[in-house]
Amino acid sequence: MKPLLIACDFDGTITQRDTLHVIVEEFGDAALWDEIEPRLRSGAISVEQALQAEFDTVRVDAAEVHRIVAERAPVRAGFRAFVDWAAAQGHELLVCSNGFRSVIEPVLHGQGVELRLVANDARFERSGTTILWDERGARCELCDRPCKRGPMRDHARGRRIAMIGDGISDRCGSGVADIVFARAGLAEDLTAQGRTFLPFNDFHDVRAGFARLEDDA
Ligand SMILES: [Mg+2]
Ligand SMILES: [Zn+2]
Repeated sequence: MKPLLIACDFDGTITQRDTLHVIVEEFGDAALWDEIEPRLRSGAISVEQALQAEFDTVRVDAAEVHRIVAERAPVRAGFRAFVDWAAAQGHELLVCSNGFRSVIEPVLHGQGVELRLVANDARFERSGTTILWDERGARCELCDRPCKRGPMRDHARGRRIAMIGDGISDRCGSGVADIVFARAGLAEDLTAQGRTFLPFNDFHDVRAGFARLEDDA
């Protein structure tokens, strides 16, 4: 197989649970989200404003965040072996996340891996959390959001793209991928749209999926 760009989501894909949910559930005001969500749905506030409002209530330092993430959002099986396999095959693995760099990097380091990362960031302090939004250039022409499609295309540089994801944040980007591995909400979306994908539960499945594609090629 020719070298690919493999764009891999973080929350709910590399990790078994969404780390933002874990952090808000543990440290934030989860009830506040019930107030914010209708305003977000109606378009009165943006996703960015909604998330910042929720994270204003997260008053905790980074060490506590790292501890709870490690405990409640463990990494999916086979991830480290998959990273090594991709490197050996000459594929570039790009972690593409709408979550936070300061949360993601310690998890990756805990796995002993160093990967290129596109993500937002957050500064955790006892006075409240400040979200630092990633500069992704122009808004996506399809979804009108700073989505993953632009960074995926930029990093591909002519290579074919594989994407691995689980949720809404992967929906638009999956449209530029030649190969899609999906689980949970992303798998449901793609099924509803009649688009083909390879299902996965862990990274052993992903590796087996690539092996089957190689056999077919
Ligand atoms: Mg996700
Ligand atoms: Zn988009």
